[in-house]
Amino acid sequence: DYTLLRDDQDPDDIEVASKKSGASAWRLIALAKEQALVLLIATVALFIGSLATVAVPKLAGTLIDICIQFGQHGQTAQDAENELNQKLLQIIGILAVGAVFTGIRSWLFNASAERVMWRLRSRLFEHIIHQEVGFFDRVRTGELMNRLSEDTRLMKSAGTTSISIALRSIVVATFGLILMFMTSPLLSALTLACLPLLLISFRVYSKLNMRYTAEQLTASAGAATVAEECFGSIRTVRSFAKEKASTGRYGGSQDQVVGWGLRSARASGFFFGFNSLVGTGSIVFVLWYGARQVVEGRLSAGELSSFVIYALYVGSNVGSLASVISNLIQAVGASRRVFELLDRESKQPPAGDALPKGSQGGGEIIFENVWFAYPSRPDVQVLKGLNLNVSPGQKFALVGSSGGGKSTIVSLIQRFYDPQRGAILLDGVPVPHIQHEWLHSQVSIVSQEPVLFAESILYNITFGVQDPESVPLAQVEWAAMLANAHEFISAFPQGYRTKVGERGIRLSGGQKQRVAIARAILTKPRILLLDEATSALDAESEALVQEALERVEAGRTVLVIAHRLSTVKTAQQVAVIDGGVVAEQGTHQELLNKGGVYAVLVRRQLQSAAQDSSGS
Ligand code: ADP
Repeated sequence: DYTLLRDDQDPDDIEVASKKSGASAWRLIALAKEQALVLLIATVALFIGSLATVAVPKLAGTLIDICIQFGQHGQTAQDAENELNQKLLQIIGILAVGAVFTGIRSWLFNASAERVMWRLRSRLFEHIIHQEVGFFDRVRTGELMNRLSEDTRLMKSAGTTSISIALRSIVVATFGLILMFMTSPLLSALTLACLPLLLISFRVYSKLNMRYTAEQLTASAGAATVAEECFGSIRTVRSFAKEKASTGRYGGSQDQVVGWGLRSARASGFFFGFNSLVGTGSIVFVLWYGARQVVEGRLSAGELSSFVIYALYVGSNVGSLASVISNLIQAVGASRRVFELLDRESKQPPAGDALPKGSQGGGEIIFENVWFAYPSRPDVQVLKGLNLNVSPGQKFALVGSSGGGKSTIVSLIQRFYDPQRGAILLDGVPVPHIQHEWLHSQVSIVSQEPVLFAESILYNITFGVQDPESVPLAQVEWAAMLANAHEFISAFPQGYRTKVGERGIRLSGGQKQRVAIARAILTKPRILLLDEATSALDAESEALVQEALERVEAGRTVLVIAHRLSTVKTAQQVAVIDGGVVAEQGTHQELLNKGGVYAVLVRRQLQSAAQDSSGS
């Protein structure tokens, strides 16, 4: 059951799920509860429809009776034909009723299955998206995608169509069984003697099938991850000419999927073959034994033939029951994985409801002795008692060699993670106490490579607003103007309605940056987090982005991960982050004069970045 986790994950994530999964069959069926009324009507339709179907052969038999009687009782041909016509009308009537109810049944069952699945998927999506960020660090996206689409698909008909077919088969088979016993108890008992064999084989098969299904789903999640990664990074794949190798990698991940599928196919071959052998064998045996009874005068030929018909009837219904149950077993396998996710509680406590300083200014950030390790790598301490004090309205630069913990600081301010020890205070309030939407309207980020969504520019700029419809276009344009984006957006034929493509692929790097700046400031945040791009944009875009940033920085607290000399020079405070603590802090000039880590850094890193960007 360690399906949700990668190899290196702590198994504690699935604890809840494995405890509860025993009940998953019932929970699976219970999913259909909301459709109870529709399902009830559908079930009634199912019974009426199958009664009609069962009645037709009996009525068709009376046609033959009429023929036989015609020869015996000297009826006129005209009379017999009239009688035949009448019977035909009856049969057509019943057929029509049967057809209507079969149609209603099929429509209602499928419709409710669709609705059940739709609800389940929405619930699952909502549940997943509320998990803590650390969860997404550890669980493969393909795994989540697969649970959302593939597993729920397997579960789709379980509580609706499958259950109703199972019900009908049980009722019909029971009915047939009673008729069998009424015809010949001895032959019935003999027939049933093969039942234990069938039950044992069914049990073995179900167990195997359940396991194979679960394994196959896990493997196919792995394959989905590979596909997603390759298609999502097609430029990297192309630029290294790795199409063939990627195809091979995907093929390799499919090997397992196929492997489990083949095992499952083999098991079903054994099971259905064995069943057919036992089933047909027992009927032949019963026929042989019954025939001897007829010869000995203990049973009439008529009784023997009705008995065999009933037995076949029971047999076919038990057969369909077996295949429905095997579908249900797959559904239970899939549902475990879905319930496992639905049962998982976010490891991050919910946000509080504090609104620090209400609508007044502010924007103070304090780190008090913050200790932090990533949940996916708990043994590596990234921050080791970090202290930081950013005053409202200050421009504060974080510098330091890569891996020191600068991005981690930025993540913690956004509460992607909670520190293990110490506190982070925004305007005096610990971050976890701050109301979720409020926090994110007051803290905005512009990152090195901003992620845009495959929607319109308007959608992307208003993304940070909870109710985007309510934002007047003038306000969007205001943000875009500040961000130096209005001009290029207006130049597009569709203006703000222009679609940006997946991850903003249809915009240039500088345009994406400026859309991201507009997005960040639309909510008028107090705190701006900037992760300065290391890769130099072309000089012109660079200048436009810089100009936009200068404009939006005014009047806000700005915490910037700085890579440029020009940035640190304009910052009021610079902190060198090294090994998870503040190694040095002061103004650019103070730190230079000190001649410590910072001075080295400026010479080696910041200076060369400055040369790069001025040289390009
Ligand atoms: P910087 O921004 O200064 O380059 P980071 O904050 O990105 O440094 O990284 C600090 C350390 O945390 C690095 O050792 C990095 O490998 C690790 N790290 C960063 N992100 C994650 C993550 N999501 N999961 C586990 N470890 C991470």
